[in-house]
Amino acid sequence: MPSLLRQIENIQDVVDWDLCTGCGACFSHCERGAVTLINIGSVGIRPRFDSETCQNCTRCLAVCPGYKLELPVPAETKRAPDLGAEEFGETLEIWEGHATDPEIRFRASSGGIISALALYCLERENMQFILHSTASPDEPWVNRTVVSSSRDEILARAGSRYAPASPCDGIRQIEESEGTCVFVGKPCDVAAVSLLRRERKQLDERLGLVLTFFCAGTPSSEGSTNLVRSLAIDPASVASVRYRGEGWPGEFRVFSETGAAQASLSYQESWRQLTSYRPLRCNLCPDGLGRFADIACGDAWHKFSGTDRDTGRSLVLVRSARGREILRRAREAGYVRLVPAGADAVFAAQGSLLARRRELFGRIVALRMLRIPAPRFAHFSLFRSWIKLPALRKIQTVTGTLGRAWTRGWRARRPLRVPSSGCRPA
Ligand SMILES: Cc1cc2nc3c(=O)[nH]c(=O)nc-3n(C[C@H](O)[C@H](O)[C@H](O)COP(=O)(O)OP(=O)(O)OC[C@H]3O[C@@H](n4cnc5c(N)ncnc54)[C@H](O)[C@@H]3O)c2cc1C
Repeated sequence: MPSLLRQIENIQDVVDWDLCTGCGACFSHCERGAVTLINIGSVGIRPRFDSETCQNCTRCLAVCPGYKLELPVPAETKRAPDLGAEEFGETLEIWEGHATDPEIRFRASSGGIISALALYCLERENMQFILHSTASPDEPWVNRTVVSSSRDEILARAGSRYAPASPCDGIRQIEESEGTCVFVGKPCDVAAVSLLRRERKQLDERLGLVLTFFCAGTPSSEGSTNLVRSLAIDPASVASVRYRGEGWPGEFRVFSETGAAQASLSYQESWRQLTSYRPLRCNLCPDGLGRFADIACGDAWHKFSGTDRDTGRSLVLVRSARGREILRRAREAGYVRLVPAGADAVFAAQGSLLARRRELFGRIVALRMLRIPAPRFAHFSLFRSWIKLPALRKIQTVTGTLGRAWTRGWRARRPLRVPSSGCRPA
């Protein structure tokens, strides 16, 4: 008897059901060169497949975070259940702090810990380079994957960019490097890296440190162009944008060809507008706080004073023994300044991100009721989080998604026919 559930059978299904995160892992994993990446303005970065070359090969599904994500089975323990571990994943240590270098701290998104650790790995751990993301020189609302091997390059690329990025499209540069390297990406990017390294032994050996940041979703490029239009500026006249940084959290700023600032908008208002451009998969994210990285950083919002006097503070979640060692050495070498923090700080700082995750089980149930494919998530304690919601909220998580599936056309495949707004690098 045919299954009543529609199944994901290949990555085209992942794309057509809007489950693609745009990480670029399929591009790097394909040995046949059958995948190209394009940025579709209203959607994000998506793969295109040459069906003749693909010949029904489905190897790339094994590295796709839009298809399946599994955390290791939790070890049997006699400890009382740890609320922090259940809600944002296992941690070895939790810290609060910032980069010691004032220029890095100022230019970075929150406390500059990611850039400071990247620099430490280059200068003191003999790592070859940092693979991360920065603005495309041609289109300010498209990112490209770059390699940084100096302080100046790291500094120039510090700061969050609320636009699509696919850092896994450059992962072969790490694989083919002469020594170990640092990878920086969103939680879904580092989840893809964790899948890629299982399949690619040399990549696994070359990954010296995997860094991520907390993430509430990536808005499409159209989010940025409409934001620019809302400031009464023609996107064609814009040479570059900064989403935040240069202060905490800094502002969304638009620059002309001469480098003059044309307009700005508060971080809060710009992010409020951008959130409605996040794709479905971001609303189904089980891991906004980066469980698959060695270290995950995010804004220490509970310490935000509401003025621009504070130059930035990060929360630092140490996820692996390697992350713990490197962080300890970076601290001893004076690259980062840290004070111990606990799970209560994470709950206080990241309330809305954690609240969204608590609703996820209800959303997935609603999709399944409508036979809409959803990613398979294992060992994320989604049910245990959802069950704690008040009864009415539980019902709303299901009915809200049922309504949105109806009004937004999620019940049918949505093959992408929109013209690209800029080709991605191969
Ligand atoms: C789309 C998005 C959503 C976010 N949502 C949240 C949130 O909900 N809560 C929260 O606390 N923090 C969120 N952040 C993270 C936050 O803005 C900071 O990045 C984080 O606090 C780390 O700061 P830092 O100063 O250590 O990073 P920095 O030292 O400034 O380093 C940032 C690094 O991120 C890389 N990068 C920038 N943009 C992207 C991108 N789009 N994709 C991949 N890599 C990128 C850069 O190349 C750089 O290496 C988000 C960031 C992004 C890009």
